[in-house]
Amino acid sequence: MKAWLKPPRSLLLILFLLTLVSVSAVGWSAWKLLDQERIVEAQRAQELLEQAADQAAATLKRTLAETGDRLGAFIANPSPEDAPEDGLLLLLNGEEMSAEPAGRLLFRPFPSAEPEAPEMLFAEAELLEFQQGRLQKAAETYQRLAASPDPATRAGALLRYSRVMRNAGRYQDSRAAYVRLAGMTGVRVAGVPADLLGRHAECELTAQASATTPAAEVRTRMAALLKDLLSARWQLTRGQFEFYWREASRLAGSQGLPPAESLALSDAAALAWGQRKTEPAPRGQSIVWVDRRPFFVIWRGGPERRAVLVTRPESFLKQILAAKDVVPAVFDSEGRLLAGHKDSHNRAAVRTQDETGLPWTLYVTGVPSLTQAGMIARQRFLLLGTSVMVIFLISGTYFIARAIRREMEVSRMQSDFVSGVSHEFRSPLTSIRQLSEILLLGRVPNEDRRQVYYETLVRETARLQRLVEGLLNFGRMEAGARQYRFEELDAGALVRHVVGEFEGQIASQGRHIETMGTESRFRIDADPEAISVALRNLVDNALKYSPQHPTVWVELGREGHSVAIRVRDQGVGIAPAERKAIFRKFVRGTAATAANVKGSGVGLAMVRHIVAAHGGDITVESEPGKGSTFTMLLPASGAAA
Ligand code: ADP
Repeated sequence: MKAWLKPPRSLLLILFLLTLVSVSAVGWSAWKLLDQERIVEAQRAQELLEQAADQAAATLKRTLAETGDRLGAFIANPSPEDAPEDGLLLLLNGEEMSAEPAGRLLFRPFPSAEPEAPEMLFAEAELLEFQQGRLQKAAETYQRLAASPDPATRAGALLRYSRVMRNAGRYQDSRAAYVRLAGMTGVRVAGVPADLLGRHAECELTAQASATTPAAEVRTRMAALLKDLLSARWQLTRGQFEFYWREASRLAGSQGLPPAESLALSDAAALAWGQRKTEPAPRGQSIVWVDRRPFFVIWRGGPERRAVLVTRPESFLKQILAAKDVVPAVFDSEGRLLAGHKDSHNRAAVRTQDETGLPWTLYVTGVPSLTQAGMIARQRFLLLGTSVMVIFLISGTYFIARAIRREMEVSRMQSDFVSGVSHEFRSPLTSIRQLSEILLLGRVPNEDRRQVYYETLVRETARLQRLVEGLLNFGRMEAGARQYRFEELDAGALVRHVVGEFEGQIASQGRHIETMGTESRFRIDADPEAISVALRNLVDNALKYSPQHPTVWVELGREGHSVAIRVRDQGVGIAPAERKAIFRKFVRGTAATAANVKGSGVGLAMVRHIVAAHGGDITVESEPGKGSTFTMLLPASGAAA
């Protein structure tokens, strides 16, 4: 482990740790920033809500004041033009009550004040009718009274006359009297407006007695009566309204109930009427609940003469409720919702009655969408920025790590190179030294042996020279200082010459280089020395990496516009993954090192340099354990002779 952690591996570890720390720091800061942003945003949202609440309170105050002013003006000068869009504007004057718009007040808290004939007028005739059973006589009396100039008396007499006729079975006469009654307005009989009573009674009689009149006609007329009831044509009490509504519905064959909202409004008006006594202050407002519906009641004026606006909170708070982005709600002092909507999950701004001086508590909830959109945009921007930073950090680390690993590889290869080269130098140097010592001490057994020693000395010296020159050549090539002298030459002759150089050395080991196609006179434009160096390297490798096989092959041929020089052996071969890498300097194959074949790893790099300088190419085909073929392709300068 300790050894493994030595530089430059420890450098990699430090780099990795640094990156980890940086990425974590960036992530943490981004998260913190987001958190901060959320808090600021929440504050902003709360501020907006508070503003909205203040605005709503101000609007509500203004609306109240304006409504009060309008009511004040209405008391002084009531006009139908002041009628509100929703609700009712009432003028309570002594024992009277008028409503704007009149059609919305379905009933009143007190009976109509229209004139009605006193009972006494009919006492005598009713005595005849009920106690003495003298119906004819009673009818005559009623008829006479029905001709009275006073409409109230007429109405009272007509009602009684039609009753007598009906009881006597004279339906036609009874009906005719009801029809007349139905035509009378502005008077009451039995506490009910005469025309309403007449219209209903006549239809009822028709429905009951006459089979000839189509029921449809009764139904249409009663439907019309229902419509009149709904348009508040008569001043009725709630009981009267309900009775006639029920009756007319029955006769009209309809099940419909009067709209609950209209009923509740009229009930609320009745409560406002009652408030004259309980709330005598000349100005004020309150909430009345009818049928679990709240109504705003706002008034100006004392119990004697008072203008009152009765309306649903929604319509009164229209301006506040129309607020964009936020959701306002208004509660009464008992905490009951009057209008709007309260979102309990979100933050809220509250304005209590004490704070605003209003009779209601105001709530404003909801998150303003504008700030939310802004926050989302900022969050995205922050996330994007962080991601870009993290990507930069990671990719930076990756490239640095890669550079370090390359550096490690190069240093490893360099040390391999040094050990390889030293070894290459060592064997010829050892032989030279031993032979020179033997010769110096004169320990040579005979002349033949001496000759062999001299030859060996020459060969080993030449090998050393080649080695040194090879390295110098490679150094020059790497530095880009190698000068090439191109000339047109015969590729076959060149191959033969290089192979010839090897023959002498290997023949003693029982090895042999077989050539093919070298007689064909392919011409190439090349630097003969450089190409010889390249070919020498290939042949040397072929021999080096096939120590068990006596033969290697060198073949000359034509491939398109190129001359191909192939060097083939049956040696250790090259793993597919290494076939590209072996052409890089100092790279040595695994099979080569495993077979304990010494080398410097610069031969093929040099070959690639030379071939590239000639505008050619070098390729390899190989099968591990079976052998390799290196092909040098050089542009041909002429055709075969
Ligand atoms: P060296 O032979 O000195 O190691 P080279 O550059 O000549 O360097 O070759 C690079 C590597 O290519 C060798 O280490 C060896 O693994 C592989 N190689 C080259 N020629 C052959 C061959 N004929 N057969 C098998 N492997 C070869």
